[in-house]
Amino acid sequence: MIVAIDGPAGAGKSTVARALAERLGFRYLDTGAMYRALTWLAMREGTDLGNETALATIARSEPVTFDANDRVWIAGTDVTASIRKTDIDRMVPVVARHPAVREVMRERQRQLGREGDVVIEGRDIGTVVAPEAEVKVYLVADRDERAKRRMADRPGIGADALATDLKFRDESDAERMQPAEDAIEIDTTHLQVDDVVDRIEALVHERTAV
Ligand code: C5P
Repeated sequence: MIVAIDGPAGAGKSTVARALAERLGFRYLDTGAMYRALTWLAMREGTDLGNETALATIARSEPVTFDANDRVWIAGTDVTASIRKTDIDRMVPVVARHPAVREVMRERQRQLGREGDVVIEGRDIGTVVAPEAEVKVYLVADRDERAKRRMADRPGIGADALATDLKFRDESDAERMQPAEDAIEIDTTHLQVDDVVDRIEALVHERTAV
């Protein structure tokens, strides 16, 4: 079974998807981490982030991998911590907007999601990567709440800069942030993580019963 969890930055996708995967004994696939890792490598190599062909070539020749502890690797480097920095937050939509890059990523994500039961989180999972997913959830939350959550993850950056970054990222990601028509929307603004996980778990059980 595939459970697709989409939604904007700060809506709670990663926390919820990880907890859900653990509870159900499913694998967990973080597609945002793949775009982040590619962005990290392209920046390290000094690649022009407007050069779609060069970026797609790197994406193809340096596939992102996840080890058994869910650490993220690219080009022989563990980038788990490096990809959660502000410079990557800012540049990743610039890389992710190129269709040729998305095509490489989509194929890789499909391969990684193919075997067994998996929770996949991203922006376009229910619409493009796995439209056949048995359960599709679209998480949303008020922008103020999302900025507050991001503050906890990015202690070095001020509230105003963070709100501006979030707005910029929402706008750049907008075309990939449409919920699938058959996705269930959950507003996490006033919910605890466990409540959100409970709701999705119930959807999975409903689906299994059918
Ligand atoms: O979810 P996360 O914040 O890690 O995603 C980082 C960025 O990667 C997003 O802002 C978006 O630009 C891109 N992304 C995407 N498609 C996905 C997952 C992430 O374009 N499926």
